[in-house]
Amino acid sequence: MNGHLTADQLGDLRAELERQLARLQRSMKFTEEAVRPVELDQTAVGRLSRMDSIQNQSLSRELQDREVARLSQIHGALSRIDRGAYGTCVECGEPIVFERLFVFPEAPECAACIP
Ligand SMILES: [Zn+2]
Repeated sequence: MNGHLTADQLGDLRAELERQLARLQRSMKFTEEAVRPVELDQTAVGRLSRMDSIQNQSLSRELQDREVARLSQIHGALSRIDRGAYGTCVECGEPIVFERLFVFPEAPECAACIP
């Protein structure tokens, strides 16, 4: 049993988490391509476009960091559902209102405990 949530609510939230997980994993494949080391072949890439691609690469790295953090949040939420610990704030132990979980199903803490 996951705290105060009904089986229906929990089913919806799990389905949403799984959709977001699938979407995130697709997007992470593209990001992985984008952070590959910049090709240093002078003939293939001119100086300016090389600077562009280095800049793009650092943006992609930041994106990748955010995606990795999000991936672990989603995995964490799914594992809390499996353990029956979902919907309870990891900080204060109070139930997280369904409206918040509906918008942020991966949220590990209640609105009052947002870091
Ligand atoms: Zn809390």
